[in-house]
Amino acid sequence: MERSQQLVTVSQDKIQEDAHLEEALRACGYPPWSFSKVRRQMEFKGDKRKKKNKKQEASVKRPLIIIPHVKKVSEPIVRIMNKHNVPVATKPWKTLKDLLVHPKDNQDKEDITECIYKVPCTNCGKTYVGETGRKLGVRLHEHKTKVESKTKRAFTRSQRTASLMVYSKSALTDHANQANHTIDWKKTTVIDREQDRPTRSIKEAVHIRKEGHQAMNRESCYQLSHAYDRFLDATADRRIKTWKN
Ligand SMILES: [Zn+2]
Repeated sequence: MERSQQLVTVSQDKIQEDAHLEEALRACGYPPWSFSKVRRQMEFKGDKRKKKNKKQEASVKRPLIIIPHVKKVSEPIVRIMNKHNVPVATKPWKTLKDLLVHPKDNQDKEDITECIYKVPCTNCGKTYVGETGRKLGVRLHEHKTKVESKTKRAFTRSQRTASLMVYSKSALTDHANQANHTIDWKKTTVIDREQDRPTRSIKEAVHIRKEGHQAMNRESCYQLSHAYDRFLDATADRRIKTWKN
C-alpha cells in the first residue's frame, strides 16, 4: 500500500491501485483488520513526515537572529522583527569592562604599557581618561609634575589669575588647577589594554564618552561620532526620554 502511494502520482490512480491491491490481498487470505491497521500506520508516518518538513522549512527560512541587549533599543527592534515573523533573541551585551578586567593579571600597575587608564578626582568624583603606549607609571609621573607645577607654586595673585587663564595641554592639569581639586593618583585604574595605537585612540574616545558628564576630558584625539552616545553614555537615558517627548 505504501509502495502504491510512492510509485503512483495521480490521486485517482492511487485509489484504484489501492482497491486493486486490497482485492488481491484479500484473495490471498489477508484479514480485513490488517488493511485498517496498515492505513493507520501510514497516516501516523505521514503526520510525522509533515511535522519534520515543517520544522526543516522553518529553520531554513528563518534563522534565529541574535542581537546584543541594549536597554530601550533592543526591545523595539525585537518587536518590529517579530511583527515580520523574524525570530530574534537578545544576549547580554559584553561590556568593555568584561573584556578588559583580568583578575589574574598581577602585573604591577605602574609597569603596564599600551593601556587606557582612568584617574579620579578626590573632591568631585570626576575622572580623567587617558591612553599611553609607555609604562603607566612614567605617564602618571608626567601628569603629576604638570599638575604640581600649576598648583604647588607660590603664585602672586596676578600670576595665579594668569595661570587660570591659560589652558594646559591636559584637561587633568586644568581641572586640578581651576577647580583647586586634588587628584587621587592612588586610585588610578587601567581600564583597557590595546597594542595598536590607532585602536587605542578609539578605545580612549569610547571610554571618555562612557564617562559622560563625569569626564574631565575636553575631547579625545579620535573624534568619535555622537551617534554612539546612546549606547555608551550612562547619562544618555535621560536624553533619550527628552528626545522622545
Ligand atoms: Zn574635581
